[in-house]
Amino acid sequence: MNLSHPLVIAGPCSAETEEQVLKIAHQLKETDTTVLRAGLWKPRTRPGNFEGVGSKGLKWLQRAKEETGLLLATEVANAKHVEEALNHDIDILWIGARSTVSPFIVQEIAEALNGTDKIVLVKNPVNPDLSLWLGAIERFYTEGVKNLGVIHRGFSSYEKTRYRNNPEWQIPIDLQNRFPDLPMILDPSHIAGNRELIFDICQTALDLNYNGFIIETHHDPDNAWSDAKQQVTPDVLKQMTIDLRLRKAVGDDAVYKNKIAKLRTKIEEIDNKLINTFGKRMEIADKIGYLKKENNVAILQTQRWNEILDRMIIEGETNKLSEEFILKMYQAIHQESINHQKRVINEE
Ligand code: PEP
Ligand code: MN
Repeated sequence: MNLSHPLVIAGPCSAETEEQVLKIAHQLKETDTTVLRAGLWKPRTRPGNFEGVGSKGLKWLQRAKEETGLLLATEVANAKHVEEALNHDIDILWIGARSTVSPFIVQEIAEALNGTDKIVLVKNPVNPDLSLWLGAIERFYTEGVKNLGVIHRGFSSYEKTRYRNNPEWQIPIDLQNRFPDLPMILDPSHIAGNRELIFDICQTALDLNYNGFIIETHHDPDNAWSDAKQQVTPDVLKQMTIDLRLRKAVGDDAVYKNKIAKLRTKIEEIDNKLINTFGKRMEIADKIGYLKKENNVAILQTQRWNEILDRMIIEGETNKLSEEFILKMYQAIHQESINHQKRVINEE
């Protein structure tokens, strides 16, 4: 893999028709893309959704390669997919997030790829579990797969956030620390779940020295058969690669910038979670407000509040937080809680 420039893998979530694949491939030829992606066998959360065109799409991809020179990438989820992909000139095989969670499937795919020179990219598992991701990588190494890389596509969570799949940047950063030479590719499309967030996610990844991107790209995103909201046109992709700031990874300054970017990303994630948690706390305050209203109880319960404060000062000590900080912070939280409850009580 030539990784002096970020690798750009782009193409539709799913191959739909031969015409669609060829059209997108030709449009991508005018961008920085070097690899065409397209899903043929689609793992769908629920049955009844479009499950991919299957093996017949392999010929369409081969034709796109002949016509444009783009390399080919597709997802393989069992030994049969691997065999078919290898027989049809696929250059990069990726393991989907729903496969990485299953050691049996990973083992089956790894054995089918035994000793291959092809590039194999392992997506993170659906759930935020670093050891599953590491375990999958180890299985491929054990089977003699030499050209390994990973794809960070975010992690699912039950709680609603602005992302379809939370980035949880600290997990890929931890993985990079364990396997520093493993190329790290970002899949902003499945992290974002919508077009608007893609650019910022890509910039964060570049600041963290990622080696490339896999971006879902479609000539008519709104009418894509799968993942319509998160796909961009080849034109948008082209503009994005112009606007992204690429940092040179040489010299002390670059090392410093990379380190600080990693730490700042962690702080940003924690700050987002803090605000989310405060929001949730206030939702519960509202519920308490309704309960107090129904039962005609006063908002301010001084004894209860003092108990909370005492508990939090002790909790603060174990987390190396000063009493002064806890008192100031809880004063603000308490005030916001009271405001919420007042609003509830004054509602008609
Ligand atoms: C995909 O890349 O189209 C895909 C299904 O991704 P993931 O496995 O990350 O959900
Ligand atoms: Mn998709």
